[in-house]
Amino acid sequence: MSDTIACASHGQASVSFCCVHLAEGSGLGVIHGGTDAEPAAICERCDSACSGDWASINTSDIKAVCVFCFWELVGKNERQPAPLTVDWESAAVDEMHHRNLERQTRLFADYPKYWYDLDQKQFYLQTGSGVSKWSMPLELIGSFHEEKKSWAWAWENDSLPQGVRASSNWLKGQIELVRAHSLIQSRPTGLAEAWHLALKAGWLWGASSVYRVPHGPLHIFLRLGEETAEQ
Ligand SMILES: [Zn+2]
Ligand SMILES: [Zn+2]
Repeated sequence: MSDTIACASHGQASVSFCCVHLAEGSGLGVIHGGTDAEPAAICERCDSACSGDWASINTSDIKAVCVFCFWELVGKNERQPAPLTVDWESAAVDEMHHRNLERQTRLFADYPKYWYDLDQKQFYLQTGSGVSKWSMPLELIGSFHEEKKSWAWAWENDSLPQGVRASSNWLKGQIELVRAHSLIQSRPTGLAEAWHLALKAGWLWGASSVYRVPHGPLHIFLRLGEETAEQ
């Protein structure tokens, strides 16, 4: 169990560490460190100034922040490879459709059994006979409730495990960084619209594929990363 911190915006939450520049700036470039349970990050300038020896950084340059704030400020400081063009949204949907189809054909078709663990943030695939399996890291994008016709981003969903909710703040930061604010505001009223929103978000989040898990009227959209063979 990691230490906690009282945050003015997020209440009592796990503690993370970053340099003071990341806490206040944007687009500075991010070097990651720490652990999954207690993430840490510094800006590119701090990293080159200390030649990678984090222990030598002056403690007054390091700040403790809550894990939600941490992923938000990481998102704002991560370098963006290319500016988005005006029609990026349809290109993103096409690209993600393509990645989903490729993965469906190559992997999912032969591994019909799946399950996942939100706390561990892992998604598993298995053959019908259960001989071999694959695992891939997951993140939760959001969920759509078909009866209520309502969409919720992972970062606004209090019922999710803290780790899942916190890292989705990275996506929120990324969306703000590329100024795709319409995405945050959009409220899909049908499943097809929800799919499109999830695909765009998955693309911004560098997903290998986006997967929909139905739970009755609730549909959960997952961002899946690269797969690893499991024994
Ligand atoms: Zn710094
Ligand atoms: Zn916070």
